Amino acid sequence: MKVVVARHAGVCYGVERALKLASEAATTDGHVATLGPLIHNPQAVAALEDRGVGVASSLDDIAGGTVVIRSHGVDPAVVVEAEERGLAVVDATCPFVRAAHTCAAELAEAGYRVVIVGESDHPEVEGILAHAGGDALIVERAADLPARLPRRVGVVVQTTQQIGTLREVVEELLPRTADLRVCNTICSATAQRQTAAAELADGVDVIVVVGGHNSGNTTRLTEICRARNPHTHHVETAAELDSAWFVGADVVGVTAGASTPDVQIQGVIAAIEALSSDG
Ligand code: SF4
Repeated sequence: MKVVVARHAGVCYGVERALKLASEAATTDGHVATLGPLIHNPQAVAALEDRGVGVASSLDDIAGGTVVIRSHGVDPAVVVEAEERGLAVVDATCPFVRAAHTCAAELAEAGYRVVIVGESDHPEVEGILAHAGGDALIVERAADLPARLPRRVGVVVQTTQQIGTLREVVEELLPRTADLRVCNTICSATAQRQTAAAELADGVDVIVVVGGHNSGNTTRLTEICRARNPHTHHVETAAELDSAWFVGADVVGVTAGASTPDVQIQGVIAAIEALSSDG
């Protein structure tokens, strides 16, 4: 059984940067906590905790020291409040997420009603919303758009969304608005991983997607692969692999979300190869 890894898979620039900033803070800044899990990967978060980087669910949980803002970004009011409480702030907001904040703020400032394409309960989307003016709205798909819309609408998209979802929303808006502006804020790392996953899914017998079950971008990779290959499985670690998935398979594809460290991908590959040699 041959294992083929997607051309683009695993940790992206923004996650790598956030992990580095948090690790540096742990070695220099005493008590360090991230506001929410730094990335949507329980194993990586546990490894950080071992190195002294705790997880706080709110600023109230942080008695002092340093707070790390994760790559998803936050409402700017949170940073102001942290500073007012005397905390040192390490802002690991990904520059691509920051670009989405800037687009949303500029559209709102220019008088456009901002439509954010993304998951309403995702922390990144909450951060974009905080920059998008009081009347902004969030849609997950075109069908979520309201019946009445103003003349001027500006679209911003969660960095990890699929281009097809953005396209559907824009196509629905186009005939219904007089002045439509679109910021395609899907980040290049996401687009590359989704394209590579789709290519891979077409040419393999089984595909394994590695990443946190709570990771939105990993879940979307799984959806993309499953739409092309029904033998698609999403696992967080090698322990979840089932030998029955690989019966009769010659080629197994492996891809991974942007928050999946290389050590986890390698662990899954090694376990698949071991299943192969056992069989
Ligand atoms: S997926 Fe893109 S936007 Fe999100 S952290 Fe990675 S590089 Fe940044």
